[in-house]
Amino acid sequence: MTVMAVFSALTHRSGELYRKLLPIPCLLCGLPGKQEPLCQACAAELPLLGPACQRCAMPLESAQICGRCLQQPPVSSYSFSLYRYHAAIKRCITAFKFHQQLQFADFFAARMLQQLKADHEPPDCLIPIPLHPLRFRQRGFNQAFEIARRLARGLDIDCQADLLQRVRYTRSQSQLSFNQRRQNIRRAFDCSTQPVPAHIAIVDDVMTSGHTTAEAARILQQNGAETIEVWTIARAISHY
Ligand SMILES: [Zn+2]
Ligand SMILES: [Zn+2]
Repeated sequence: MTVMAVFSALTHRSGELYRKLLPIPCLLCGLPGKQEPLCQACAAELPLLGPACQRCAMPLESAQICGRCLQQPPVSSYSFSLYRYHAAIKRCITAFKFHQQLQFADFFAARMLQQLKADHEPPDCLIPIPLHPLRFRQRGFNQAFEIARRLARGLDIDCQADLLQRVRYTRSQSQLSFNQRRQNIRRAFDCSTQPVPAHIAIVDDVMTSGHTTAEAARILQQNGAETIEVWTIARAISHY
């Protein structure tokens, strides 16, 4: 090992130690937390989704199937979201996605795992919604993959990040209307080069109209997936 390599390794280790010892200020209230990006009080106040439609995660009085899914059953048979996409969650996810606060990946995955482990038969593998290579280069990481690989590790199952590819560059769904979103995401994915396991869960950060995960599910089903679940950090309750 060269002197420079030793120096670089030591600097890296001391940087890690420093980060571990230094309390991180809570993103929401600014008070010093411990090793998490939110303090305990703010973490406890995040809005859990609660009872919701089993197929599309839209909130309901009790966990059943909503009218829309009864009329037009989606490809996915089960949807899981931990939180409602409200202001506080939006700030956390924005910090995670756009300001590289990757400690939120650990934070969200740990909490999703608690619930998924309690009431769930794990799928064969997890498939994160891929970013287009151009967007990946801009952001430096894929937030869905960061969550999926932590969930896969916790559940002791595979995470297949290259099974689904983004073959078309699409505009950000957040600026579009409900119908434009469906059009925008159409044929954005491909997975024809590898066999798809029978029971899978698609992982994404936020589910809004559901068009992105529905389009991914459609392609994965065409290529062999039989039971498809959708797991997201948060469900946006929109007025669609
Ligand atoms: Zn706080
Ligand atoms: Zn539903």
